[in-house]
Amino acid sequence: MRPPLGCFYCGVEERQHCQLWHPVAGWHGWKEPTRTQIATRLRARLDVPYAVGDQVRILPDPGPNHGSPFAAGGVGVVVSVHVYPPEAGPTLFEVKPLGRASHPYSADRLAPT
Ligand SMILES: [Zn+2]
Repeated sequence: MRPPLGCFYCGVEERQHCQLWHPVAGWHGWKEPTRTQIATRLRARLDVPYAVGDQVRILPDPGPNHGSPFAAGGVGVVVSVHVYPPEAGPTLFEVKPLGRASHPYSADRLAPT
C-alpha cells in the first residue's frame, strides 16, 4: 500500500526517495502527490470504503432490531464519516436515505450501489 505522502509517480516517501526510475516518469526526483492521491491513499489505509457524498445501498438487518426504521434496507447518501481508534469501535457512516432520518451504519450494513 502506498504511503499517503508518497511520490506522485512511484509512491515512495520523500525521505527514502532520491533518483528513482518509473516506467512513465523515467528518472525523477520526489514529486508532491495531489490532494486526491493523498485522500485516496488515506482512505485505503484506514479501510474507509465510503466518502461523504457517496451513494450507498443499506442492507436490511434481519436481526433483533427487525421492524425498526434503521433495520430497513434502501439507498442513501453518506452525510458524514466517523473514524475511531481501533479499540473504540468500527468506522461509522452516517447515511441519509430518501424520506427517512439519517442514521450511523457500520460498513458491514452498507454496499456500493
Ligand atoms: Zn517517485
